[in-house]
Amino acid sequence: MFEYHSHTTNSPDSRVTMAQYCERAIDRGVREVAFTDHIDHDPAVRSRGHYNYERYRNDIAACRALYGEHLTILAAAEIDWNRGTAAAVADYLVGKQFDFVIASVHWVNGEYVGERAKTHSSIETYAQFLDEVEALVTTEDFFNVIGHFDLGKRYHQVNGRMDIAHNHEQLARIFTAMAAKGKGFDLNTSSLRNGSTEPMPGPDILRFFRECGGQHVTIGADAHSLDAFATNIEAAVRTLEEAGWTTASHIAQGKLVQVPLARVLGETPAVIPVLV
Ligand SMILES: [Zn+2]
Ligand SMILES: [Zn+2]
Repeated sequence: MFEYHSHTTNSPDSRVTMAQYCERAIDRGVREVAFTDHIDHDPAVRSRGHYNYERYRNDIAACRALYGEHLTILAAAEIDWNRGTAAAVADYLVGKQFDFVIASVHWVNGEYVGERAKTHSSIETYAQFLDEVEALVTTEDFFNVIGHFDLGKRYHQVNGRMDIAHNHEQLARIFTAMAAKGKGFDLNTSSLRNGSTEPMPGPDILRFFRECGGQHVTIGADAHSLDAFATNIEAAVRTLEEAGWTTASHIAQGKLVQVPLARVLGETPAVIPVLV
């Protein structure tokens, strides 16, 4: 099993150590894990100074030494992005290496997209958000996948659902650009812990992405607690099947590589990753 989205003490909003997750991973039969701690630059994030790259790399090195025989450990990050922070993100990444990067648009004009869904319609929630995502996919190349695409679904069951018909043209442009650049989605199961019946994105968006040439989806629970780690990975695989997918992806030799869904849940990695 792969788990490609979790937060350790290197994120301001988690108190779980990397070592605790590694032990849980081995207990649960997870063979490959990406620790995607938050790297934030938006001024709205008051805790944005929390992350320290050296400390993170030290944790990765220590866990690889302790658990590397049983577990593939990817040095990863969830990097918050919007057009207002693009320059700061680019500056920050100079000289830093990651095996896997999720790019997430959490903040639009200082407002958290998830919270916005509680008081705005779907169309209002996602209008400028989609402009930010389109700018991300057309101007940036620092990431592998886009995080929790319809994030509002984690906060509001109705408003959080992206209106595919209304946004059809823009979504087609975004998905086609992602496919052309080999980018994928983070299939994020945290919404299932918050009462949603679907992971993010859900089957309709996954199907549309595939029709536009999309090839890559990674799976993760977005854990900020030990109990959430690697939860609902099987549900994510079922969602992919429902949407006509036969593979999910993981990182091997520095890039996203497809793996048959049966092997995502199995014990053996398809390709041994080469990691930084
Ligand atoms: Zn996030
Ligand atoms: Zn996250």
